[in-house]
Amino acid sequence: MTQAELRQFVLAYKEVNPCVDCGKHLAYWFMEFDHVRGKKLFNLGSVGFGQQNVRPEHGGFKRLTLELVQTEIAKCELVCIWCSKVRLRGDKATPLTSKVRWLVS
Ligand SMILES: [Zn+2]
Repeated sequence: MTQAELRQFVLAYKEVNPCVDCGKHLAYWFMEFDHVRGKKLFNLGSVGFGQQNVRPEHGGFKRLTLELVQTEIAKCELVCIWCSKVRLRGDKATPLTSKVRWLVS
């Protein structure tokens, strides 16, 4: 598989599978991999974009293969960008203080 085909695989995976948190099927650019287990060897978002090698600290400079990409995906949960923000910051809004709000009132 070429690096471009590997990228197509990653994007197709994002569109075929739903967000594990809200169950929505969305276009690939709304979907993110949340790394939840094991060591991250490379960034799935960079597949096919030049940064095609495993991080140097994990052996490095190994050409990515479908097997490596699938192994990396298995360490992640697929979530939409909304649920990704909720995971990152919690679902409770943290309003700006009145000290800041006067700037736009
Ligand atoms: Zn979601």
